[in-house]
Amino acid sequence: MRLLFVGPPGAGKGTQAARVAGRLGIPHISTGDMFRHHVSTGTELGKLVDSIMKAGEYVPDEITVAMLRERLNEPDAADGYILDGFPRTEGQVAALDGLIGEDGLDTVVVLEVDEDALVERLLARGRADDTEETIRNRFKVYQEQTAPLLEIYGDRGLIKEVDGIGEVDEITDRILSALETQNSQPKTQNEIIEGSEIPR
Ligand code: AMP
Repeated sequence: MRLLFVGPPGAGKGTQAARVAGRLGIPHISTGDMFRHHVSTGTELGKLVDSIMKAGEYVPDEITVAMLRERLNEPDAADGYILDGFPRTEGQVAALDGLIGEDGLDTVVVLEVDEDALVERLLARGRADDTEETIRNRFKVYQEQTAPLLEIYGDRGLIKEVDGIGEVDEITDRILSALETQNSQPKTQNEIIEGSEIPR
């Protein structure tokens, strides 16, 4: 099974992706973790991306896609995986389509977390970089950047929304049960054109 996990920063997406991957016996592929590993072990790639990551910017698609392509070619990814943090841009969606085909993903799991609930939860965690303002800004950036991706995968009928508020175990179970249900029907080309803002 090839899955993609999407969710706002702080919603527990990485934790859930790792847990679900463990339950399904497939690797959890997080581009953020891969980059951090390169930085901490001091590879050439790590040196290149260090300052980009510190600035909170995106690593250029070319670099990210090359790294992901190699990872997907590893033998353990042959029977499926959970992608976490990739694709993040429309260019990366196109690159992923090129690697595994437009019908390559089985499901896109979207962790739904209400903004106010997220702010409350992260403030309770008490980390220095978690002020209400930064949390709300990260949420806004996430929504702006992810919305176009959700539209693409929504049109393909791949999205399953899962309530991301609750106990960790409970959320894992919700995701696993959502994965057992059928995907919705992909939109027809006409529906996509009618719903778009492209002038005809
Ligand atoms: P994350 O742990 O997923 O939040 O990723 C941490 C950092 O790694 C991001 O802020 C980016 O600098 C970089 N990164 C991770 N995934 C990507 C991606 N798909 N495209 C570009 N940059 C990424």
